[in-house]
Amino acid sequence: MARLTYLDHAATTPLDERVLEAMLPYLRERWGNPSSLYSHGRVARRALDESRDTVAQVLNCRPSEVLFTSGGTESDNLAIKGVAFARRGDGDHIVTTKIEHHAALRTCEWLEQRGGFRVTYVGVDRYGVVDLAELERAVGPGTILVSVMMANNEVGTIQPVADAAAIAHRHGATFHTDAVQAAGALEIDPNALGVDLLSLSGHKIYGPKGVGVLYVRRGTPLLADAHGGGQERGLRAGTENVAAVVGMAEALRFAEDERPSRNQHDIALRDRLIEGMLAAVPGARLTGHPTLRLPNSASFVFEGTDGESILMDLDQYDICASSGSACTSGTLEVSHVLTALGLEDDLARGSVRLTTGRATTAEGVEHLLSVMPDVVARVRSIMPMLLGVREEAGVDR
Ligand code: PLP
Repeated sequence: MARLTYLDHAATTPLDERVLEAMLPYLRERWGNPSSLYSHGRVARRALDESRDTVAQVLNCRPSEVLFTSGGTESDNLAIKGVAFARRGDGDHIVTTKIEHHAALRTCEWLEQRGGFRVTYVGVDRYGVVDLAELERAVGPGTILVSVMMANNEVGTIQPVADAAAIAHRHGATFHTDAVQAAGALEIDPNALGVDLLSLSGHKIYGPKGVGVLYVRRGTPLLADAHGGGQERGLRAGTENVAAVVGMAEALRFAEDERPSRNQHDIALRDRLIEGMLAAVPGARLTGHPTLRLPNSASFVFEGTDGESILMDLDQYDICASSGSACTSGTLEVSHVLTALGLEDDLARGSVRLTTGRATTAEGVEHLLSVMPDVVARVRSIMPMLLGVREEAGVDR
């Protein structure tokens, strides 16, 4: 089988062998329920406690401020709905940005449509940096929550989260950040950032899928979403997934310990990807910020193409990449992030995201760069046909 060139680490990462080893005892012999009083349960409880301590150490916070969840999506949901409903008496207004992950964006939309809240979606500049002046204008006396992601998953742009948190706090609003993509690449210190809530996910940092963290600063008003046995200080009921929690904590610890060397590795590959792509492919454009971007993230648009067609073509070469646009049930959806950056639909349609990781090699990057000109040319040549088929099917471009 040809070797896989995996350039989609923002989608998910492989499980670190060391993390797997740490998890295995809790899937085999130490399978007790952490809420049970006998020693078989207490062993599991100890693993949970130790994992919480590990996460707290990395985040430089108290263990009681660490909640384990089922992933980034649940952390975002719990943070945003939990604060919204807990602070309803103080106001009904939420402020977020146009470039959040759907886990935050759809939650805000749901609160607007079903919860009776008002939401303001703040814009970004052409590089995807949130407009702090607009944020300042948006936040007012009735604002109870501001949510701004730490780094964007599609274009990799790093956000001025500490400044955004300061604005929120000046107006008495609680502040949440989605740090799912930032973890492992940037320092994640809720105190230094001045944030009240922060979301993390295991599978983006070589940990298991289906586990995450929500940091909740002591004293932050938060209502539970899942009710039941009172686990996680009553804020997230349900028997804990001990093995996954152990894996999450280990993955986060390794990510923090190895951050400098991982970043150095990624930056070299990312910069080669960007420079090589812009030189090799006519009509290629970098999206996101030229320097304020995640160390492993290179994102582009290719004029006159379609991102999904490029991905399918790359798959023939065993290259895995991702696109912001998606053809769902015959409709071509353009990425809300690229639209917020001011890109026309025709250009945004041709988006491709390449994200490197620990196992990415210089050869892998050169392999991608060597096939990309042909792939883009081929997709360009079939575009009239693709658009014709869509038009014929009555699909709105
Ligand atoms: N937030 C961001 C910025 C993400 O990139 C993702 C996943 O892609 C999520 C949240 C959702 O995390 P999970 O897959 O753990 O639910």
